[in-house]
Amino acid sequence: MIFSDLYINGKWVEGAGRHPVYDPSNGSVITEIAIAGEKEVDAAMNAAAAAFLTFAQIPSRQRGEMLRRAFEIMIAEADDLARLISRENGKVFADAKGEVLYAAEFFRWFSEEAVRIEGDFRTSPSGDKRIIVTNQPIGVSLLITPWNFPAAMATRKIGPAIAAGCTVIVKPAIETPLTTLAIADILHRAGVPAGVVNVITPTPAGPAVTRLLEDPRLKNLSFTGSTQVGKILLKQAADRVIRTSMELGGNAPFIVLDDADIDEAVSGAMIAKLRNGGAACTAANRFYVSKKVVAQFTEKLTAAMKEIKMASGLTEGAQLGACVSVKERNKIADLVTASIAQGADVKLGGKTPAGDGAFYPPTVLTVAADNEILKEEIFGPVAVIVTVESDEQAIALANDTEYGLISYIYSADLGRALKVAEAMESGMVAINRGVISDPAAPFGGYKQSGLGREGGFDGVHEFLEKKYIGAAF
Ligand code: NAP
Repeated sequence: MIFSDLYINGKWVEGAGRHPVYDPSNGSVITEIAIAGEKEVDAAMNAAAAAFLTFAQIPSRQRGEMLRRAFEIMIAEADDLARLISRENGKVFADAKGEVLYAAEFFRWFSEEAVRIEGDFRTSPSGDKRIIVTNQPIGVSLLITPWNFPAAMATRKIGPAIAAGCTVIVKPAIETPLTTLAIADILHRAGVPAGVVNVITPTPAGPAVTRLLEDPRLKNLSFTGSTQVGKILLKQAADRVIRTSMELGGNAPFIVLDDADIDEAVSGAMIAKLRNGGAACTAANRFYVSKKVVAQFTEKLTAAMKEIKMASGLTEGAQLGACVSVKERNKIADLVTASIAQGADVKLGGKTPAGDGAFYPPTVLTVAADNEILKEEIFGPVAVIVTVESDEQAIALANDTEYGLISYIYSADLGRALKVAEAMESGMVAINRGVISDPAAPFGGYKQSGLGREGGFDGVHEFLEKKYIGAAF
């Protein structure tokens, strides 16, 4: 069943109009979702504010059990949800299924964290006072998510919010709202009370989000999306000094040192580059490969990329699906064209296929270190390789970006890899692995890749306020 209305105060409600959701692999309309107008935005805020009064008081064990039930339902229905993700996002079924399993793990992880929210009791250094620190739910939170992981980016925020005792208004990306609406139904069946989770789909997003940010009852903004939109929201949040958590864009370097096992590096590169069709904030964007091994690495990576089967997401055996829209596909194509004009050597792909679907083929480019494509988040199946002379040059080039989400390093020498890892200006570093996202680990970026951490022990703290109670007796 496809849910296409707004989910407000535990009920499905119609909005101020309808908006089509497309299947990007063929351009067909999957369904039309309700558009949230001012009335529905206000209704969502009223519901979340009213529900907070009681939800924050519910024992954490009960909140954890709701999340645990949601995890179990999501796992039991993983294939259905994966098919929905594949249809609205374009990614292949295998990637969509992987996303559902990853997304469900946030519910499980935070079901366990709900009962472990710590406090502190200490004697002051002077000896005559007591320092009591308690963590309290921050209140109504606005959760804004992108289209590239419509399930995981929602559960990575909803899970800790429920664990902390907060109520939320979720605003998914307009290209992929159906997955979030389906997750609202799962939470409903898991026994999450009315008003705790509300999902609205306004379009355009700006006015509705501004309306919510201006409402004094909103206490927290958790955003995942582009750095460009993140900056707009940070400025708006500043007006009311709203707490923010920002998971923004990336431009991940993938460093292959001269002692790396090249077959291992190529398999890691295939995952880091092609998981989710390259539309991941963690996607390897710039390959810095030692001069000694660059020819071998390029040849093997090109051969592996050539074998990838590109087809619509639900086709048996498909490994690379459509981009989320023709607009996104054209952005990738334009970056590649500009890079070629600047001297990139095309080893594979680089040409937009004909037809209705938003497809872009696996592409390998070798470029000079000053090629402009290295400055952009490509968000597609395009591997860009640069030759480096030394570890020091790899580090300097890798850090030469305003982004700092994740870096990848391949080396046979763990000590050498750790030295490079410590020099990376990024919130996460993968050593000899093509993917390290883990609900039990802190996810987040340095520099313009974000503020705060999701997942791990930190995630729930994005939804908590620390209160210090000083007592003398
Ligand atoms: P986006 O354009 O920034 O959109 C993200 C969300 O913000 C969508 O829900 C969008 O709504 C909303 N939005 C857009 N303009 C807005 C405005 N003026 N005011 C309020 N909300 C607004 O990003 P995207 O293209 O969906 O996602 C791709 C980006 O997300 C990439 O840069 C990627 O790196 C980043 N990302 C980061 C992480 C991380 O954890 N660091 C994870 C995944 C993705 P509409 O869809 O309705 O416009």
